[in-house]
Amino acid sequence: MEKARQVLKTHFGYPAFRQGQEEVIASINAGVDTLAIMPTGGGKSICYQIPALLADGVTLVISPLISLMKDQVDALTNHGIAATYINSSLQEEEVRDRIEQAKMGSYKLLYIAPERLESERFMRLLQTLPIPIIAIDEAHCISQWGHDFRPSYRHISALLTRLPSRPVITAFTATATNEVAADIANLLNMTEANQFKAGFARENLSLHVLRGENKMKFLLDYLQKNENDGGIIYAATRKEVDQVYQLLKDKGYSVGRYHAGLSADERQRSQERFIYEEDQVIVASNAFGMGIDKSNVRYVIHYNMPKNIEAYYQEVGRAGRDGEPSECLLLFGPKDIQTQKFLIEQSQLEESRKQKEYEKLQAMIDYCYKTECLQSHILDYFGESSDKGCGNCSNCKDNRERVDITIDAQKIFSCIVRVKERFGISMIAQVLKGSKNKKVLQFQLDQLPTYGLLKNYTEKEISQLIHVLVAENYLMLTQGQFPVVKLLPRAIAVLKHGEKVLQKVQPQSTRSATEVDRPLFNALRKLRKELAQQENIPPYIIFADSTLNEMSVKRPTDESSMLNVKGVGEAKFKKYGVHFLQLLQQFTDHTTDEVDVQQKKERASHLISFDLFINGRTVEAIADERNIAVTTVKEHLLKSALEGEKVDLDALIETKYEAQILEKVAELGAERLKPLKEALPDEIDYFTIKAVLYKRESVQ
Ligand code: ADP
Ligand code: MG
Repeated sequence: MEKARQVLKTHFGYPAFRQGQEEVIASINAGVDTLAIMPTGGGKSICYQIPALLADGVTLVISPLISLMKDQVDALTNHGIAATYINSSLQEEEVRDRIEQAKMGSYKLLYIAPERLESERFMRLLQTLPIPIIAIDEAHCISQWGHDFRPSYRHISALLTRLPSRPVITAFTATATNEVAADIANLLNMTEANQFKAGFARENLSLHVLRGENKMKFLLDYLQKNENDGGIIYAATRKEVDQVYQLLKDKGYSVGRYHAGLSADERQRSQERFIYEEDQVIVASNAFGMGIDKSNVRYVIHYNMPKNIEAYYQEVGRAGRDGEPSECLLLFGPKDIQTQKFLIEQSQLEESRKQKEYEKLQAMIDYCYKTECLQSHILDYFGESSDKGCGNCSNCKDNRERVDITIDAQKIFSCIVRVKERFGISMIAQVLKGSKNKKVLQFQLDQLPTYGLLKNYTEKEISQLIHVLVAENYLMLTQGQFPVVKLLPRAIAVLKHGEKVLQKVQPQSTRSATEVDRPLFNALRKLRKELAQQENIPPYIIFADSTLNEMSVKRPTDESSMLNVKGVGEAKFKKYGVHFLQLLQQFTDHTTDEVDVQQKKERASHLISFDLFINGRTVEAIADERNIAVTTVKEHLLKSALEGEKVDLDALIETKYEAQILEKVAELGAERLKPLKEALPDEIDYFTIKAVLYKRESVQ
């Protein structure tokens, strides 16, 4: 190891190894296959570069990104180390030339992209090289269960069997669960390999989850306070990247943007401007970051929840590579869950992989609802145990007393027992709230003894509490797009043995009941005025100020929670409810989590209408925006519902017709529409009939 230390000093100029590096290098030098899992910025490259320098022959490095390859080779050359790369950017002649040079021993390291291995000719060329070590960077790409599977990585196994003498196989990644690590070792045939997992905890990073923030406002405040620091803001969709970018630009920040919809040139420029600090902030999609070596990124803000913990930890890992304190903030809104589910459904993945993605997504959602140490949650996820909290994350720093919520938890658990573990979170919340929602009544859940047991909370608060109980392993959600809540042993212990449930209360539910949200209140007032003008009546006739105030505090999300607001009766709800609910929803998700414009082009027409609808637009507004008939929009939504999307059909059909239609259905059957239509009054159209039939059959 003395030699290794010397190389570290002379070639790289570093006085000491970082945590984990020494063991990994010693293992490789001893000729043992080695799998090293170290965090982003942990210094993995040196772990194979130093053994490469100490071995005879040329070490083959397989790396997924062409741009990164060139940087690495340039950096090595700068350190006085002979290295080169071969990828699709070279002419055939250059390739042969470099191979010749490699044969003659001109290089210590040769970087190649995995796609090269698809060429038979190239494989044969490689067989002629003396290769003592093969290093597979970003090795999680070989595993289907990893977060960035690349089929071309699978050719590595073929290469290994074809080399004249077996090199020492080494693999590196920042993000592998135990399952993925085992898969990597298996696929690379690394029997009896040493496995190292080094210090996943990044002590200089403080992790924060912020729930229920007005994201835009939060960003602006944050940037103002951290004016002199550089940081990355990640958003889930291109559209949102563009929106946030524009907002910050308009406010005069030096800001760049990066996403896959921009040309390679534009991306390159943005990246450089950020690295050279011409731009202080970069707003980016998850396409940004691989190979960003900028060491003084002071914060990484996630404007949306990312798709899984691997992706998240890799992205926040880009903060504070220099070891200085840096902040990682995740702005979580429940809408983010929908976006990610939507992206999974949209993807071309096989069913089994989709299920896996849902499972990973759930661990991410749990992270967002966690009330205990965030760092520990991540370490657990990667299979590294941690006994104590980090003391540095938003949960560890949350000094609020834990409250005994055993009684509420018991109510939730027993409600889940009563519904025989057959329903999702929103249904359980509705039952506990005592909602008169059609589905609740249809399934006669209002007859349950647990019906209305938590009526003092809003449905949203109940849902949140259930999410917390999921995150804390009392409950579990089945996989898939519409998960069902089930009890875990921890909940049984609470029900059967009276174990206590202690929790810090979630921010939303502790919000003071009198704290009026001014901007929201003003928006509600504006809407009230518009409606009043249409009807030519004074605004206060519609709703009193106090009613609007209460709406801004309670933020009802559906009919039953709206009816709980003082001053909203059935009649007024019928007349105005939809308008106010829409506005409230728009306000809750200040920006809409729509899919990329690009993606939308390929999306079926009815689903485009559906996207707009779940983002709070009325049928009329959608018809207007898309320049299609209202009836077409309705048909679109019904089609989406038939395909399994969650569409609130009640918002589309006149409830008074429902009974009439069902009566005729009982009489004439539901097989054919025409007889039904003819037997019903003219004003009941086909759409309404179809929608009612659909509702009648649909079971959550
Ligand atoms: P990873 O691939 O694990 O994300 P890199 O290999 O790119 O990380 O290393 C990240 C940064 O840390 C690089 O700038 C590298 O030069 C630096 N580095 C690596 N090892 C050491 C060390 N022992 N001492 C100081 N800096 C180091
Ligand atoms: Mg690396």
